Amino acid sequence: MPILFDDDEVAYLNWVSANPKGFVVNMDRKRQMSQYPMIHSASHKLISTSKIGNFTTGDYIKICGLDRKKLESFCEREFGKLPSICDSCTS
Ligand SMILES: [Zn+2]
Repeated sequence: MPILFDDDEVAYLNWVSANPKGFVVNMDRKRQMSQYPMIHSASHKLISTSKIGNFTTGDYIKICGLDRKKLESFCEREFGKLPSICDSCTS
């Protein structure tokens, strides 16, 4: 099942490092930006590098899972649209 991380950086980063083959959906908290939700591979450094921070505490929340299809249906159900795909980490 997809796991939502909201205001929980430690749990989020632990999940990403424990599940390098998983997927991470990035979503803007206000649900207004057209490019979100966006799905990334958990191994994409952009979504876990310590240089950026505020992964779940600022304007964004994350939804993580091992099953990409389930993440896609989660987005459809919760946000009313399928996630866009990060050009640089998924194929
Ligand atoms: Zn990516």
